[in-house]
Amino acid sequence: MRAAVAARPGGAAAVSERAPEWHTDLYRMACDQFFRAADRLDLDPDECTRLTEPRRSLVVNLPIRMDDGALVNFAGYRVQHILTMGPTKGGLRYAPDLALGQCAALAMWMTWKCALLGLPFGGAKGGVRCDPSRLSAEEIERITRRFASELGPVIGPDQDIPAPDMGTGEREMAWLYDTYSQSAGHAVPAVVTGKPPALGGTPGRRDATGLGAVFALEAALERRRSPLAGQRCAIQGFGNVGSVAAAELHARGAKLVAVSDVDGAIADPAGLDIPAVLAWSGEHGSVAEYPEAEAIPRDALLELPCDVLIPAAMEHQITADNAARLRCRMVAEAANGPTTPAADEILADRGIPILPDVLAGGGGVTVSYFEWVQGHQRYIWSPSEVQERLRVQMRSALAEVLATSDGLGVDLRTGALVVAVRRVAEAAKLRAVYP
Ligand code: GLU
Repeated sequence: MRAAVAARPGGAAAVSERAPEWHTDLYRMACDQFFRAADRLDLDPDECTRLTEPRRSLVVNLPIRMDDGALVNFAGYRVQHILTMGPTKGGLRYAPDLALGQCAALAMWMTWKCALLGLPFGGAKGGVRCDPSRLSAEEIERITRRFASELGPVIGPDQDIPAPDMGTGEREMAWLYDTYSQSAGHAVPAVVTGKPPALGGTPGRRDATGLGAVFALEAALERRRSPLAGQRCAIQGFGNVGSVAAAELHARGAKLVAVSDVDGAIADPAGLDIPAVLAWSGEHGSVAEYPEAEAIPRDALLELPCDVLIPAAMEHQITADNAARLRCRMVAEAANGPTTPAADEILADRGIPILPDVLAGGGGVTVSYFEWVQGHQRYIWSPSEVQERLRVQMRSALAEVLATSDGLGVDLRTGALVVAVRRVAEAAKLRAVYP
């Protein structure tokens, strides 16, 4: 299958040759996944080009005055993948290795995530190449506000709506909202989601990605007549996504046998006391050195025996190098792009299903959509309404993925992408080519 994909005239190799600006491992990986779905849908090469290459990309240099008086340039990016479905939507990431090709891949995944969840958006992603852990709050504010003003011409409530991603959160979204609104001359709440609740953010947005992953997992397990309670879960990543998923799983009676963050990993085969781990990490900034569990090497978490492995950190974690050593019965991807196509094949051969990122990681953007609707309507929903709508949306997307995967006899990722790509391809065909 992979060789056939690479040999196609419009295939992954051809995409990166034609579009060297986006050519990175991550972009090739997103294209490789796309072509597996495109093959099932019999899309022709021109349609494939239209659906893979980003419509718009912005690269900016942000001159920032540092606290010590030095002037430093930071690179900022925003890639808008597809303009066919409505405004574009996706997070802003602050990370030291951020590059255009990475944003292009992440923007493409946002397109499929939105289409799968039935949200009226195309995908986008962007951010600033910086290491927020080495910057003061004042420096991060200057970066965010300068970036917001550079983004001014390409974002807007009906144009492109940023949100948090790795390294950003409510604080940065508040600065972005304020900077954009200052230049508009009035408050524009729908220009960004993931705002603090006091500024019109939805209370459930902070927890939405972790919670959405649990809703999807719960529904997937139900299909296998397997209750969530009692499942032994290991979670890689204890940030906004992983810690919420851990707390929710723990509250529902699952057993968290290991969790990790950038500084360390801890394990307890009898099940970690997650409220205590949360309190420890809140106080010490990390789960590492939590005294009531065994410290293990971070990489070892992925290979521990468990029922459900939840990568909730970053891309490219389950690869051809470690996939054969995984000892879980299922993977639920709360992060974007954690499993490479080669690892997909190894896990498929081993009979380990993967609940893919475009589904299991879709809770955040779904609640972002709710926040955007509320921003436009100036009518605020109750937290329980937000949560219930999220649950319904995740379950119905899962049902479509299962029906498609079963019908075509393909893995869940390919099934999810077939549902998503079919929707976008149909819309692109109807809108046709202008002029
Ligand atoms: N950054 C999140 C994601 O990767 C959410 C994006 C959004 O809410 O727009 O799905």
